[in-house]
Amino acid sequence: MTLGDGRATLVGVSTSAARRVDYLRLSVTDRCNLRCVYCMPPEGVPWRSHDEILSYEELLAFAAAAVAAGITRVRVTGGEPLVRRGLAGFVERLAALDGLTDLSLTTNGVLLPGCAAELRAAGLARVNVSIDSLDEGRYAQLTRGARLGDALAGLDAALAAGFSPVKVNAVLMAGVEDEVDRFVELVRQREVHVRFIEYMPLDRRLAAEHDFVPAGFVLERLHGDHHVEAVDGPFGLGPARYYRVPGARGTIGFIAGVSDHFCARCNRLRLMADGRLKTCLFSAPERELDIRPLIGRPAALSAAIAQAIAGKSFDRCVEAPSGGRGMSQIGG
Ligand code: SAM
Ligand code: SF4
Repeated sequence: MTLGDGRATLVGVSTSAARRVDYLRLSVTDRCNLRCVYCMPPEGVPWRSHDEILSYEELLAFAAAAVAAGITRVRVTGGEPLVRRGLAGFVERLAALDGLTDLSLTTNGVLLPGCAAELRAAGLARVNVSIDSLDEGRYAQLTRGARLGDALAGLDAALAAGFSPVKVNAVLMAGVEDEVDRFVELVRQREVHVRFIEYMPLDRRLAAEHDFVPAGFVLERLHGDHHVEAVDGPFGLGPARYYRVPGARGTIGFIAGVSDHFCARCNRLRLMADGRLKTCLFSAPERELDIRPLIGRPAALSAAIAQAIAGKSFDRCVEAPSGGRGMSQIGG
């Protein structure tokens, strides 16, 4: 699959198992302690009230039914999942679900130092920490005021707690091309796997403010300066393509959701914190399924999930509206 101006190429992978929907992103909150420029407007987004958000009991009932319908991997997300109280207890109960083989979490990392060990002990296997820049000033600008040191402390807490693999998500924003050497240094020093993620234009107002940076543009820098080699994704099926930097402990990868149309290989469902199930990041609100009325009816819930999976579209639909919801409300 060719990206950018065509000089840099991402290595193709088999799509044989592509149509297996086995992965659920479970958003436990729409609230967040940061305000990343590509995710939210400066004033933030209106938060749902507590009674609009699924309780942990309801989330567990949904997860159990999803596992019964064929989901084997769950990623806890948000908003910022670590701002929700009682998360470790919830994780422990999720991890105990029979049939679940992989439990992970995506976080901005800032609160991880205080809870990484507890989450690991609760049965969480893996974490992704979102760090879009390794330059203090740029990080503060992209997060509207957070401190890079706090996110790096979270990353180190994740490594110390024994999560494996630990990945770093970095959304490709203008200026990232000048940070390639810093990210290379990060994977030399720490056993972490960086994934540069193409910006997805979910919110038109925010999209108008940001230049799109194709994954291929950064890959060219990586190829030109660091002689990377493509490696198989060692972490299961997913949209990322990975590259090894000679001598480094970790890898650098790319998720090219816009340049590389991976809809045909999509294996995921998304449950938003308000109980609405999405089979596509970009699907319109009228295609969402409100699962709350089905909680307490396990057979009906499993049947509805199975039906949603059966009806999932694998066609590219990036132009479709997301119903005005931003990433923090959907869960990434
Ligand atoms: N707050 C957590 C975090 O930032 O990791 C979890 C939720 S966040 C919505 C999940 C992921 O989505 C993060 O890696 C974030 O960088 C990414 N993300 C947010 N908005 C995005 C956008 N418009 N395009 C691509 N990725 C985006
Ligand atoms: Fe919050 Fe994550 Fe969105 Fe940043 S990307 S504003 S940390 S939800």
